[in-house]
Amino acid sequence: MEELYKCKNCQTNIVIVEDNLFYSDEKSEVQISCPACDHKLDTRLTDGWFFIQTEIEFKKEKEIESKKERLPYPMM
Ligand SMILES: [Zn+2]
Repeated sequence: MEELYKCKNCQTNIVIVEDNLFYSDEKSEVQISCPACDHKLDTRLTDGWFFIQTEIEFKKEKEIESKKERLPYPMM
């Protein structure tokens, strides 16, 4: 699940991806802060974790991922 945020402090677009692989009942509080200026955005409860990236980084990574998929052999 991807969520788009905008930092109120530096106006950077931020993508938050929640990852809960463990299906645990135990939730912990995670602080979401801006990767560009460290401004605190939100506090969330999760049983997994959050990946916080700027939108630019996020798009760059997506591009790399899609290139990898096109390779005939897996990367060693
Ligand atoms: Zn910021």
